[in-house]
Amino acid sequence: MSFIPVNEPLLNGNEKKYLCECIDSGWISSEGPFVKEFEQKMSASVGRKHGIAVSNGTAALEVAVQALGIGEGDEVIMPTFTIISCAMAVTKLGAVPVLVDSDLYTWNMKVDEIEAKITDKTKAIMIVHLYGLPVEIDAVLALAKKYHLKVIEDAAEMHGQTYKEKPCGSFGDISTFSFYPNKHITTGEGGMVVTDDEELSERCRMLRNLCFRKDVRYIHDEISDNYRFTNLQAAVGLAQLERLDEFVERKRAMGRYYTERLQDIDGLILPVEKTDYADNIYWVYGMVLDRKIQTDNKAVQKLLAEEGIGSRTFFWCMHEQPVYQKEGLFSGEKYPDAEYLARKGFYIPSGLALTKEQMDKVISTLKRVMAQIN
Ligand SMILES: *Cc1c(COP(=O)(O)O)cnc(C)c1O
Repeated sequence: MSFIPVNEPLLNGNEKKYLCECIDSGWISSEGPFVKEFEQKMSASVGRKHGIAVSNGTAALEVAVQALGIGEGDEVIMPTFTIISCAMAVTKLGAVPVLVDSDLYTWNMKVDEIEAKITDKTKAIMIVHLYGLPVEIDAVLALAKKYHLKVIEDAAEMHGQTYKEKPCGSFGDISTFSFYPNKHITTGEGGMVVTDDEELSERCRMLRNLCFRKDVRYIHDEISDNYRFTNLQAAVGLAQLERLDEFVERKRAMGRYYTERLQDIDGLILPVEKTDYADNIYWVYGMVLDRKIQTDNKAVQKLLAEEGIGSRTFFWCMHEQPVYQKEGLFSGEKYPDAEYLARKGFYIPSGLALTKEQMDKVISTLKRVMAQIN
């Protein structure tokens, strides 16, 4: 029985050609010419002036948060339901994530819970767009303005998405992307920080590369890490970026195909196709078990795996992470809807290389599995 993996990227454009150029020219490190070209094209694609390519999306968040000067004791508001990269970028600097719940249908942070969490220690709000629909950004920007807060936009899953027709990755002070293989465009591993602020971009460049001082090499006034991005990664990224519109179209078509065929299954809450600010781009095709289903996402995943279908659960909440509980962070905090999503949400194969035949097999298997569970 052939297993259908949860994700497989599509690498049949100019990837091989550009990679061969790296090998033939000898430019394989972060000094190669594709890096700058990729930074320029990627940042321009979201209307930002500067792009700083880094080793992955987590590094992009760390660089962005540190560049904004966030440190010891500062508070950053973010959803509890997200990947740990968001919280880690803050806790690594001795700052504190302050959490809000998420919406059961859009799976994004509840922006109406943010204002009550603002204190005199709050320095920034981290917007995290999840699974295919953007956060209600206008509400966040209005709060940031009112309370003089910085805005970090984690657009890791939002390549090619817009909010009210403006590109995701163009909002707030600084935005970040990931190019992990399950994102709309990939470089294997990789990430980017984008901003319009010249000074911030200079700080990001320094933080990406061990904080070498500009005037004298090997002298350091600050500590960071090596988050450099190679010419090989940029070669793949340029080829991927050429096809972004096509990829977004393909993902939307896949999303519609799944929804049409899954909507009659009892017990599943499917992704919202559109809101008044965006059409879903289905970073991955996720779904949530509804209240009458007794089992959790893991039980469904196990049955799918037995029938050769890969799947993955949704994120696990930050306030329920053992590592933070051990430190006494978030003690006693409850976010009921986020907790529900983490226990009942999962996603099915939805990578760009997925064929129609594979999708049909996923659909028929999921129908069988859900009938068994119902
Ligand atoms: C993938 C992802 C990241 C992390 O990116 P990596 O490249 O895997 O480090 C950060 N935030 C979100 C929302 C993501 O989906």
